[in-house]
Amino acid sequence: MAGEEESPAIGIDLGTTYSCVAVWQRDRVEIITNEQGNRMTPSYVAFTDNERLIGDAAKNQVARNSTNSIFDAKRLIGRRFSDNLVQSDIRLWPFKVIEGPDDKPLIVVNYKGEEKHFTAEEISSMVLTKMREIAESYLGTTVKKAVVTVPAYFNDSQRKATKDAGAIAGLNVLQILNEPTAAAIAYGIDKIGNGKSKKVLIFDLGGGTADVSLLSIQDGVFEVKAVSGDTHLGGEDFDNRLLKHLVAIFKRQSRVDISRDARALRRLRTACEKAKRILSSTSETTIEVDCLSNGIDFFSTITRPKFEELNMDLFRKCIEPVEECLFEADMDKSCVHEVVLTGGSSRIPKVQQLLQEFFYGKELCKNINPDEAVADGAAVQAAVLTGMGNKKIQDIILYDVTPLSLGIQTHGDRMSVLIPRNTTIPTKKVRQYCNTADNQGLIELLVYEGERPRSSDNNLLGNFTIPITPAPKGDAKVIVSFELDTNGILIVSTVDKISGYKRKVTITNDQWRLSNVEIERLLQDAKRFKAKDDHHMKVLDARLELETYAYKMRKAINDYSIYSKLRPKDHKRIKDAVQEVIQWLSDEEGVDNLELYQDELKLLQRLCKPISPLIID
Ligand code: ADP
Ligand code: MG
Repeated sequence: MAGEEESPAIGIDLGTTYSCVAVWQRDRVEIITNEQGNRMTPSYVAFTDNERLIGDAAKNQVARNSTNSIFDAKRLIGRRFSDNLVQSDIRLWPFKVIEGPDDKPLIVVNYKGEEKHFTAEEISSMVLTKMREIAESYLGTTVKKAVVTVPAYFNDSQRKATKDAGAIAGLNVLQILNEPTAAAIAYGIDKIGNGKSKKVLIFDLGGGTADVSLLSIQDGVFEVKAVSGDTHLGGEDFDNRLLKHLVAIFKRQSRVDISRDARALRRLRTACEKAKRILSSTSETTIEVDCLSNGIDFFSTITRPKFEELNMDLFRKCIEPVEECLFEADMDKSCVHEVVLTGGSSRIPKVQQLLQEFFYGKELCKNINPDEAVADGAAVQAAVLTGMGNKKIQDIILYDVTPLSLGIQTHGDRMSVLIPRNTTIPTKKVRQYCNTADNQGLIELLVYEGERPRSSDNNLLGNFTIPITPAPKGDAKVIVSFELDTNGILIVSTVDKISGYKRKVTITNDQWRLSNVEIERLLQDAKRFKAKDDHHMKVLDARLELETYAYKMRKAINDYSIYSKLRPKDHKRIKDAVQEVIQWLSDEEGVDNLELYQDELKLLQRLCKPISPLIID
């Protein structure tokens, strides 16, 4: 048996519905087949009265044991029980999920006659153990190191939980790698080093999710530019459409309705998935299930056009995240150099056709098996990290993007963005701010993430106060810098320009990172409230304009060169009016009345007319 140093590092694509393991050997990637001879292993774990089953064996017995057959653990990993997405998924699953300590979801099963509770990490660790064992039996040695992939949109908590799952499975997880990056590595290794930046769109259509990412690749550096997707769109939805169609056919044929017969549905669904796969390469296939219900056999044929007709709206829906992703990255589709297919469902010819049409007939990258590309890239990365790869795969560096904008609250509850959403990490942004009141001694810095223009509508990450040199409004200046590293750690530093006083605060990711659902909700809110927010910003702008003008006039009126040119009566009149406006603005909290601020401004401008020609900016 090989020692730890020599033990090879593997790449594992831990999928929602299927997982895949690969290894770099003899200068190329090998996808490792499981004991059934399959290159993909279902991400299923089942518990029975006398054993625990993982993979094909678990999936094959689902019809008999649905409440103790666990799948979709990836949808739970690193999430809270109270997470809306978790709550809606629970309603769809045949197995039970309860709330554990710290809002952690726990999966309930009956194992060897006893009720047992498992976390999603534990279930995933069982799948990872299975993948490790598949590799070990192929390689004839122990395996201790692996690169495990996750979707690009996974937050820290989900990544950390996946890493924990690896540790429970006895694996030293060398890296948690983004799936689209892994797919790009699988396709791109030969193209690295030509000096030019390549924009690559990764279209990942799997069993339960559709994920689209836009990467920029240059000299072996991979940057995730934008991500988009649909968390409930994939192969299983296509299976369901076919299933519904066949249930109706069976009802016509036999007058038996199986739509409430869970076991019959399970068996027919399995047949549907098989037929669907076959239809990706043939134009017609048969579906047979012996003794489907009431002792009646089921037999039918299905053509590819019929299958496409049943799913056409869903297929079209798969293209939507592509548009969104390009929009996010602010990129025209004609600028995309490569479109990479990954995920088992991207083998469907109609989906490929729609995608190709969307890209004006561009050839799609599909020469690597779409369902294996992610594991392939993970294996390459594992080889790179352990120094086993050859020259062509060295020096791959990975970047990520910020899922939400980061900024601070400024005067009038405004969100002043320092790091815009989808900025490549690591990044550093600097901006200058000034005091908003006379002789202000302290500035309270509130750090937010989110897309709403009003900061209080966003997510508060931290707040701290910094002393500033007292000065008239607008004269004291503070430089604020945001530095975000690859681990999602945000360092906020400030410098008082007058005194040179410096302050540095670190906001760590585990304190504040939002779940994807929360991020998604914030993004949706930003869209939903856009009209309202726009109006609010107009009001704020009008208020600010009035305020700025009033302060400018106050400064002017106190200037001797102006004072000396005015009659004392006029001087007092203007001075009082200006002071009144300033007082009014500082007393009221801000009213939602655009005209009021605009009218006040006009009034003040008319009053200040005699002095405006005297002001030198
Ligand atoms: P995951 O979402 O777990 O990452 P995969 O990328 O492996 O999963 O995709 C699994 C899905 O791909 C399943 O729904 C499966 O039925 C589907 N699939 C696999 N092969 C084909 C094929 N040849 N044609 C159509 N769908 C396929
Ligand atoms: Mg996948």
